Amino acid sequence: MSSSAEVPAAIPIFDGHNDTLLRLALQKEKPPEEVFGKGAGSGHIDLPKARAGGFAGGFFAMFPPPIKSTDLSQVTQAQRYDVPLPPMLPIESAQASTIRMLSIMLRLEQALPDDVAVCRTAGEIRAAMAANRIAALLHIEGAEAIDPDFAMLDVLYAAGLRSIGLVWSRSNIYGHGVPFRFPGSPDVGPGLTDAGKALVAECNRRGIVVDLSHLNEQGFWDVAGISTAPLVATHSNVHALSESARNLTDKQLAAIRESGGVVGLNFATGFLRPDGAMRADTDLDIMVRHLDYLLERLGEDGLAFGSDFDGAVIPNAIGSAAGLQRLVDRLREAGYSEALLRKIAHENWLSLIERTQA
Ligand code: ZN
Repeated sequence: MSSSAEVPAAIPIFDGHNDTLLRLALQKEKPPEEVFGKGAGSGHIDLPKARAGGFAGGFFAMFPPPIKSTDLSQVTQAQRYDVPLPPMLPIESAQASTIRMLSIMLRLEQALPDDVAVCRTAGEIRAAMAANRIAALLHIEGAEAIDPDFAMLDVLYAAGLRSIGLVWSRSNIYGHGVPFRFPGSPDVGPGLTDAGKALVAECNRRGIVVDLSHLNEQGFWDVAGISTAPLVATHSNVHALSESARNLTDKQLAAIRESGGVVGLNFATGFLRPDGAMRADTDLDIMVRHLDYLLERLGEDGLAFGSDFDGAVIPNAIGSAAGLQRLVDRLREAGYSEALLRKIAHENWLSLIERTQA
């Protein structure tokens, strides 16, 4: 009790990426609102874990899964890998899974009105955080569900969609992604299609975040050339520290800084470790090293978290959303100031969303 005044309070965390809606969609045992609200043993984000770790919200991805799931078993301990990408996903399949995940998000908000809020603006996120409701910004990871006439975009936007990753790693009608390859370069394949360029312009017009994580390098430069908004990678790391095709080169980091953009640190051990292995027994020091590097390259306003919770093998030392403050504590020990921690934890994402809004 005597020392409690010296213990810094938990810093609320607004995070750049999770796959919780897909996890809830894939489990069939219980209603998603029950699994989320009461919590389940497995899984990275549910209400009790969020409350325990100061998870205050984030980008909630709707990722349309491949019809046949990608086999990542060779990746787990390997120091080199190259996993073939699934074929293009038919729009019917992408729309069906997207509607399912969107419905889950809306039902969570309806079933847990004091705990969950779907947010459309930075102002709504701030209000939700002030009311201690988990602030969800709807994101699409891979635009397969969106037809080139943008009819589905009209519908999804009306439902709250405010962030689009043009591609997950497989190709679609808008562009091409990076492979699951280590070591690997993001410089693979051609840039955006004409439809992809039109989608970027439409996102700019509507104030939707364009997410560059998973996009190949030529696509990245196409977006950098045409987008009027800050450049964003919601869940990517530093290529100079971990040579995954999913990570950002120094040149890309310089362009993101130039645009006033943000990079969310991905907790996926395979994108953190110098050896590319997906191992839960990975120390948090490697996360500090990536953040140090991002801080140097992007400045204090350019780095944030993009956990990839419920979509990746993350360090045991964090374990789930319940362990988020352990990362904050480690950064504090490494000399990060309280003001910088607040920027990384939520302020930088809020500012980015505010500056992207139409
Ligand atoms: Zn991803």
